[in-house]
Amino acid sequence: MPNNIVVLGAGVSGLTTAYLLSKDPTNKLTILAKHMPGDYDIEYASPWAGADYLPFGKEGSNQRKWERASWPALKKIAEKFPEAGLHFRNSLIYKRKKVQGPASSDGSSKAVQPHPWYADVVPNFKLVSQDQLAPDIDSVESFTSICINTAIYLPWLVGQCVKNGVIFNRAFFKHVAEAAGSHHSGQKADVIVNCTGLSSKFLYGVRDDKLYPDRGQIVIVRNDPGSIVSVSETEDRKEEVSYIMTRAAGGGTVIGGSHHKHDWNALPDPNLANRIMQRAIAICPQLVKKGQGIEGLDIVRYGVGLRPMRDGGPRIEKDQVEGVSVVHNYGHGGFGYQASFGCAAMATSLVEEVLSNKMRVKL
Ligand code: FAD
Repeated sequence: MPNNIVVLGAGVSGLTTAYLLSKDPTNKLTILAKHMPGDYDIEYASPWAGADYLPFGKEGSNQRKWERASWPALKKIAEKFPEAGLHFRNSLIYKRKKVQGPASSDGSSKAVQPHPWYADVVPNFKLVSQDQLAPDIDSVESFTSICINTAIYLPWLVGQCVKNGVIFNRAFFKHVAEAAGSHHSGQKADVIVNCTGLSSKFLYGVRDDKLYPDRGQIVIVRNDPGSIVSVSETEDRKEEVSYIMTRAAGGGTVIGGSHHKHDWNALPDPNLANRIMQRAIAICPQLVKKGQGIEGLDIVRYGVGLRPMRDGGPRIEKDQVEGVSVVHNYGHGGFGYQASFGCAAMATSLVEEVLSNKMRVKL
């Protein structure tokens, strides 16, 4: 008996979960989504991410477990599948004395540690020696990270799923349980995997009030500084951070950024864009030719994305909605890529639990 599974959502969470589930040939998957790779929309976070692996999960948190679990999978893809749009990049994290914390993707700060947990996960971790630091910088971490070209990686995940027999359809649902009726077999789905990100705030049957947006503004340029660089907080505004990351395979360099919580504004703010570019040049002068300012940046596009934040962290759990089995996998904030495989593996095992119960009921 095949397992009929609907995955609702085609961001990094839905695609990674579908990719893992599709490795089992008894699983027959349909991915249904309003937005698909190739689209740029404020309701679709995944294309806007840098995206790089800069872990910041706190001690004892699920986030830390998921980030740790995701590195080997991302590393394997970067090494074995150059066409997936991932590459290794040297990463420099500057920590300001004032805040003593890293430029984490949720804007949070934490105390400087000489040996953070990810020093044992990422290759080539080292602290840059004190005598090389600027006066306002407390420490600099250097390690090998991965930067993902989301414009290539999301379609690559689609391709892996299609190769494994997954069917993709565009669809929008007001209620999560409705999606059970749209499996490509024509039969009712045994389980829905809900990967709708921030939209789970509005999706009937879920309506999760713990979700809220963390608005991130970026500029993508053609200039290439050579390393990933990020700085903890900016000297004047604590919602604004500075990071620079060059995507693989001609994806350009993403310059950020900001963390404006509960801000739904989809339009780039030109003043913020100017500050982002000015700070990027100040921390990384090699971004432009000697003596140039922001006029030396060759702009591809301005962008805004909403990180799907959730009080208490991502929701990865089983649920029953109007008689339909649902496994949720949403609310990944600013770490949806770097935790993607850990989260998808957990969602996959919950789907397997649902399916094994179904088998027991049938026997
Ligand atoms: P989304 O990508 O939002 O996908 C949701 C999917 O659900 C879409 O396909 C949508 O169409 C579909 N959907 C929603 N509602 C419905 C409905 N009712 N019916 C049908 N379909 C529906 N993460 C990192 O790990 N590293 C980074 O460096 C990083 N940088 C970031 C920088 C910025 C500026 C931003 C905005 C985010 C960044 N992130 C980063 C976070 C990361 O982008 C998100 O955590 C991740 O993309 C969330 O993916 P998702 O698949 O859960 O949601």
